[in-house]
Amino acid sequence: MSLGLQSFSTVKEAEAALGAGARYLGGGTLVVRGANEGNTSFWTMVRATDPELSMIEIAYGTARIGASVTMAKVAAHPDLAAIAPVARAVGGPAIRNMATVGGNLFAPAPYGDFAVSLLALDATVQAGGRDVPIEAFLDARDGNRSIVSSVRFNVPKPDAFRFVKVSRVKPKGVSVVSIATLLDMDKQGKITAARIALGCMADRPTRARAAEEALVGKTLSADGIADAVAVIGDGKQPLTDAVASAWYRAEVLPVHFSRLLLA
Ligand SMILES: Cc1cc2nc3c(=O)[nH]c(=O)nc-3n(C[C@H](O)[C@H](O)[C@H](O)COP(=O)(O)OP(=O)(O)OC[C@H]3O[C@@H](n4cnc5c(N)ncnc54)[C@H](O)[C@@H]3O)c2cc1C
Repeated sequence: MSLGLQSFSTVKEAEAALGAGARYLGGGTLVVRGANEGNTSFWTMVRATDPELSMIEIAYGTARIGASVTMAKVAAHPDLAAIAPVARAVGGPAIRNMATVGGNLFAPAPYGDFAVSLLALDATVQAGGRDVPIEAFLDARDGNRSIVSSVRFNVPKPDAFRFVKVSRVKPKGVSVVSIATLLDMDKQGKITAARIALGCMADRPTRARAAEEALVGKTLSADGIADAVAVIGDGKQPLTDAVASAWYRAEVLPVHFSRLLLA
């Protein structure tokens, strides 16, 4: 079976070509690998070359990153230092030069580290010309038929956003678990709002709502975080794969969550 590639200069034209047997091509690190490994569910790859897809814009504290922007570009951007460590945690240099922000939203666990951080940052996904909150987007991504054009989020202050990717093979193994937190604090160091996103605790990034609630009104001390640490895995169904079992992931999650908060 031959595999075709259709290239369009606009997202609209590319979207119109996404019929049966067609798959959108971002950086191709997963799509092309799938084709190489014998995935015959598609026979045409569709891409859009619209320059908008490759733009990074930062204005008034809000970042808009085009879906075709690679992890390497995010990591190198001077105004995205707060999330550069997340981009640097995706694969090795060759993968980061190809892997896109848009593709990461669709990457199944244990992949999707960048999407975990976007969930913590409460990003908005622009897909099919509509703005969709990231949580709703991730919930519905299996049925997605649109092209993601960009993601938008408020650039976090470096001390408000934390991220850890736990992997067994350094420096570029896939996640045992990844954790991203966004914490608002008052002048006394009390947490006034918390968003926590987890990777590998389901087939896609999920929020840890019980732990978010347990952190509000607390400080970042061992006592202050104890309730949140106790419920961080509540309701989660961790992944079992070649990297780790669900049991192992559930065991180490509270340990790494606690370390991240107390670091
Ligand atoms: C060796 C290796 C190591 C890896 N390590 C990591 C890792 O550490 N962390 C991690 O998170 N990921 C990892 N990945 C997975 C992958 O590289 C990344 O998740 C990457 O960001 C996927 O983006 P892509 O552009 O390559 O996606 P593609 O392969 O192009 O596409 C993936 C899926 O997303 C869809 N898609 C892509 N872009 C869009 C868009 N704009 N609109 C709509 N649909 C779209 C495609 O149709 C496809 O279904 C690794 C992959 C490999 C092969």
